[in-house]
Amino acid sequence: MRTDIESLAILGGEPAFEEKLHVGRPNIGDRERLLERISTILDNRWLTNNGPFVQEFERAIELRLGVAHCIAMCNATVALEIASRALGFDGQVIIPSFTFVATAHALQWQGITPVFCDIDPRTHTIDPRRVEEQITPRTTGILAVHLWGRPCAIGALEEIARRRNLRLLFDASHAFGCSHRGRLIGGFGDAEVFSFHATKFLNSFEGGCVTTNDKELAAKIRLMKNFGFAGYDRVIYIGTNGKMNEVSAAMGLTSLESMDDFVSTNRAHYQQYARELRGVPGVQLVRFDEQEQSNYQYIIMEIDERLAGLSRDQILALLHAENVLVRRYFFPGCHRMEPYRSYWPHASLLLPQTERLSRRILSLPTGTAVGEKDIEVICALIRFAVEHGREIAGALQSHDNRIPVTVEVR
Ligand SMILES: *Cc1c(COP(=O)(O)O)cnc(C)c1O
Repeated sequence: MRTDIESLAILGGEPAFEEKLHVGRPNIGDRERLLERISTILDNRWLTNNGPFVQEFERAIELRLGVAHCIAMCNATVALEIASRALGFDGQVIIPSFTFVATAHALQWQGITPVFCDIDPRTHTIDPRRVEEQITPRTTGILAVHLWGRPCAIGALEEIARRRNLRLLFDASHAFGCSHRGRLIGGFGDAEVFSFHATKFLNSFEGGCVTTNDKELAAKIRLMKNFGFAGYDRVIYIGTNGKMNEVSAAMGLTSLESMDDFVSTNRAHYQQYARELRGVPGVQLVRFDEQEQSNYQYIIMEIDERLAGLSRDQILALLHAENVLVRRYFFPGCHRMEPYRSYWPHASLLLPQTERLSRRILSLPTGTAVGEKDIEVICALIRFAVEHGREIAGALQSHDNRIPVTVEVR
C-alpha cells in the first residue's frame, strides 16, 4: 500500500506489480478437454471445411442462445463483412464511432460508407434519436454495437429500421451470454455478429459467428463464407474464405463448457471493483443491469477530471507505471482514425458525446487471469491517486521521469 506520493512508481517508487497486468488476458477452459479434442482432430485428419467440431460448435451456440442459425467464421471482422454483404448493405450505413475500429473497417473495406453517429452518454451505445437524423436517401442499414455487453436500444432501433425500411445488424462482439428483456443477444435485428477473439469473453483463439433467425439469410451467408460453393465444383455466388477451422471450434466448445465459471469469476471481480471504488470522487464504474444476464467481461471506469483531480491520461500513466496496463477503449473514436479522419475532418462536431466519453474512459484488468488480491491493490492505488490528486498532478508536472502516454492500436 502507498503511504506517500514518492512511493508511486511514476514518481520513482517500485511498481506495485512485478508482472504486467493486462486487460483481456484470455480465459482458458479445461486444458485436458481441449487437448483431447485436438488429438481427435488429428486422428480425423479433418482440419477445416465445415468439420465435425465446427458443426458441433454451431449447434451448441444455437441451443445456448435460442437462435435458429449460427454460422461460425474465422473472425468477427470477416463475419461483419459477409453479413453486411448478405444483407445488401450499400451506400451508407449508420454506426457508432465509439467502437472498435473493425466495425467501421468491415464496411469501408467493401466500399460502404460508415456514417458515424453519436452515443447516449448514459448507455455508451448508439443514440436512436441521432440515428434518425443521419438517415439519407443513400442509407441502407444500421450497424449498432452492444458495447461492453450492454444491449443497445434494441426496441427503438428495430422500430426505426422497420419504419425507414433499413436492415439492422448488431455487432455483438462483446455480448455473448448477455440478455435484453430476458432474451439472450443473438436473435435481434436481421442478424448479430459475435467475436471469439482471444481477448473476448468466449474465445476460439480467433473466431466469430453470425446468428440469425432468417433461414434465407443464413443460407446466403453459408455460401459466401465458402467461396460461394453450393456443391462439388458448383459455385453460384461470389464468396470469400470465412471458414472457422477445427482447432478453433475445439477451443470454442471447450470455452463454452466453462462459460458459467467465467461469468462467476467476472461477476465477483465486477462486484469487488464496485465495492472498493465506491465513494472515490470522480470515479464511476459502468454498471450492469442486475435484472439481465451479463458476462461482466468489461470493467469500465469513467473519470471526471474535475472531481478526481487527475485526468484520465494521468491516471492511465500512473497505473501503467505500476504495471497495471489499463486501456482507453475506444479512444479516440473511429472518426479520429484513418482513413475516416481524412475523409471527414469535421466529424467530431456531430459527435460531442463520443468526444467527451472517449476522454473519460478506462478499461480495467479482469477475467480469470486476475485475482482478488490484484484487484484490491489496483483499487487502493486508484483511491490513493485520487485522494492525493492535486499533489500528484503537481509532482508530475515537475517530475522529469514522467512516462509518455502511448497510443496503442488495440
Ligand atoms: C473485437 C471486436 C471486433 C472484431 O473481432 P475480431 O474477431 O477480432 O475480428 C469487432 N467489433 C468489436 C466491437 C470488437 O470488440
